[in-house]
Amino acid sequence: MIRLKDVSKIYYNNGAVGTGFSNISTEFKIGEFVAIVGESGSGKSTLLNVISGLDTYEEGEMYIDGKETSHYTERDFEEYRRKYIANIFQAFNLVNSYTVRENVELVLLINGYKKQDVKARVDKIIRDVGLWELRNKKVTKLSGGQKQRVAIARALAKETPIIIADEPTGNLDSRSAKQIFKLLHDMSKDKLVIVVTHNLEQVSEYATRVIKMHDGKIIEDKKVKEVEEVKPELSFHKPMTFGNIYRLALKNTFNIFIRFAIILVVFIAVCITILGEVGSRNKQLYDDATRGASDIFIDASPKRIIINKDDKSEITLSDIEEIKKLSHVDDILTNDFMRDVGVIYSTAIYDTNISAIDIIDNFKGELEDGEMPKSDNEFLLVNNENSVDTIFYDDIINVNGKLNIENCGSAYSTLEGRIKGYAYDNSLSVDQNIMYVTENTYKRIQAYAFISNTEVSVKYLNGYIYEPETRFVELDNTIPRNTVYIPKASVKGCDETCLNAGVDLAIKSFYKTDNFKYDVKITEDRDDTIYIKINLDDVYDLINKDVYQLSVYADDL
Ligand code: ADP
Ligand code: MG
Repeated sequence: MIRLKDVSKIYYNNGAVGTGFSNISTEFKIGEFVAIVGESGSGKSTLLNVISGLDTYEEGEMYIDGKETSHYTERDFEEYRRKYIANIFQAFNLVNSYTVRENVELVLLINGYKKQDVKARVDKIIRDVGLWELRNKKVTKLSGGQKQRVAIARALAKETPIIIADEPTGNLDSRSAKQIFKLLHDMSKDKLVIVVTHNLEQVSEYATRVIKMHDGKIIEDKKVKEVEEVKPELSFHKPMTFGNIYRLALKNTFNIFIRFAIILVVFIAVCITILGEVGSRNKQLYDDATRGASDIFIDASPKRIIINKDDKSEITLSDIEEIKKLSHVDDILTNDFMRDVGVIYSTAIYDTNISAIDIIDNFKGELEDGEMPKSDNEFLLVNNENSVDTIFYDDIINVNGKLNIENCGSAYSTLEGRIKGYAYDNSLSVDQNIMYVTENTYKRIQAYAFISNTEVSVKYLNGYIYEPETRFVELDNTIPRNTVYIPKASVKGCDETCLNAGVDLAIKSFYKTDNFKYDVKITEDRDDTIYIKINLDDVYDLINKDVYQLSVYADDL
């Protein structure tokens, strides 16, 4: 059946050459029960692997049924293994998540049997190896001897003429080991069985032949029983059916309940985490939006749509007319930077962030208490009745305070004044409020807001550039138009000739830079928190010069 002629197995490892076995010539016949013994490293496993087609050989020739195999490709060896060889390993090599029956059945399904055809065969094999009572147990629940019986059952199910077992009893006590050899012997009278063992005593009763190996060579080959050669019966083999491939795929996904449950739990946990994250982030964005908390936009009302042109060019009056015609447009705000300037109102004992500034004429409600503002430093505060801001109106009405308006990002300009009256507007959210002021004050706050949302830099004409960090632009009506006052404290480093040359004032917004040539007047002012002073109306002209951004308030987005 199998004949080896001067076969050698040589290992080449990183330039070093080792020998698995060398110059072995022998023959194995169907019907034999061959025991191979020998100390560790003598080449037993290597020989079995070559015979099994698991490993190649480098020298000599191995004949199978008289056919040479030295020219065999990997595919040829695969085919050979499928038809001729069933392996049994010391480590059992079972599918642990399967029952005894499933492990045996699997071999038949892989060999192309249909599921409905295999039941009787599987039952018979399981009875033969003495596992009938345990047929529905997971193999992990079995003892080592029982597992090796399952391995033998699988080998038998494969119906090959050759069974090769490399130390199949290495993990078993001597009693179980003997039973396994008996079983192998009884089950394979018409097969070739080759077993490697380190304990000849256990197998001697069954072996028909004993081979001793030493240092890669057969040093003794003893026939202990005469055998009649049997003609090999090759195993049935077809490609696996599609139905079985599909069934096995499904089964292998779900067959361990615990594995399936853990995957499910992890999957659900991951989903919950992701959904939770997305949900809480969306909620945060929504809350931020409705509360007006945003790094860039203080008024982040969900009704607000900020509009600019793709090319950042100017928005014309006819553009605005077009937008007005759209449905659901409540209000259009040019100079909408007004909505995004930080304003804080404070007295000695109270302070609050103001969410919006508006002109007193736009107040349509009724005073709750106090009186309407009449002068530029009188204000009206409007809240939701259930405001989160705990206000004791007696403490703030007619009490001197300050409107602090963000200026150049990091500094605040101050308008002194006092709240004259208050009102409720329950259409505001509980954390919103509006401060109503006169038109003049509104204009001034707007100018500060504009300055705050732009970058103002002064370029002295001799090239000296002074860019302050925390200083701010002061708006002052007493300064002549097209003139900037620069406090002496701000022009260290620029001498008289430098200053007399005049300055270029660059006002740079997100959309564009405007450069203006201004007359310069150095003032004796020693306040070095002030960068420049400029006339409010000069700034106001800039504000109304052209429009690059709009805020549209829609009643339905
Ligand atoms: P045994 O099964 O009798 O214990 P093996 O067949 O496993 O012995 O090993 C025989 C010889 O081949 C040993 O010298 C071993 O070191 C060598 N050998 C086995 N496998 C390899 C390998 N993959 N690479 C290199 N040398 C190997
Ligand atoms: Mg070995």
